[in-house]
Amino acid sequence: MVSEWTPEALQQLGEQFEGRPPEEVLRWGIQQFAPDIAMATGFGPEGVVLLHQLSQLAPETTIFYLDTDLFFPETVALRDELEARFGMSFTRVQCGLSLEAQAEAHGSELWARDPDRCCHLRKVEPLRRFLSTQRAWITAIRRNQTAARAGAGLVEWDRAHGLVKFNPLVGWTSDQVWDYIHAHDLPFNRLHVLGYPSIGCWPCTRPVAPGDDPRAGRWAGLGKTECGIHWPARK
Ligand code: SF4
Repeated sequence: MVSEWTPEALQQLGEQFEGRPPEEVLRWGIQQFAPDIAMATGFGPEGVVLLHQLSQLAPETTIFYLDTDLFFPETVALRDELEARFGMSFTRVQCGLSLEAQAEAHGSELWARDPDRCCHLRKVEPLRRFLSTQRAWITAIRRNQTAARAGAGLVEWDRAHGLVKFNPLVGWTSDQVWDYIHAHDLPFNRLHVLGYPSIGCWPCTRPVAPGDDPRAGRWAGLGKTECGIHWPARK
């Protein structure tokens, strides 16, 4: 879809929003783009914060998740709890390739041999297809999560997908996220208290030692830091 927003105008807008509460960014995005705006979540703590805010600002907003068929049971339980708590129904986006069909076509446990290919099949391509129906999307990334995310703007042009991208929590710290969750008594993934600060698919997520990089348990030992939906899987 064609957007009237140029990358330069969006960058300027993002700079104007710096330091403003995430609700303001969300409200503006909804006003400009609804109903062609959708929020992506993997049910991490940051996503829980934005879901809480959207449930109050614009509960009719499309919320979607990329179902890889490889979620932890705890993540599925959290998804159900969030839907009930906020009275929302999340849109399940799937790749259309069963795990059995993937194993037949690419060999078993592709994630252990070629995680970039696995992420491409189960996350990147389904996301690309879904976003082609939208004019803007909302993510819960934060700048200090990974080196690749350090330069993300509050509002930006997503060149890879050809639409506007809102990152309302980009300037928040992990402490701010958890303070918000506890202050509002929001649910969160029980695995966080078992040593999993960052949670993705179960084959690619390990617990980390106290003090380690919170994302050290993602694709541990595989030299991969991103699944590829925000930036290339490797930089
Ligand atoms: Fe596959 Fe792992 Fe990527 Fe999930 S995170 S899609 S299991 S490589």
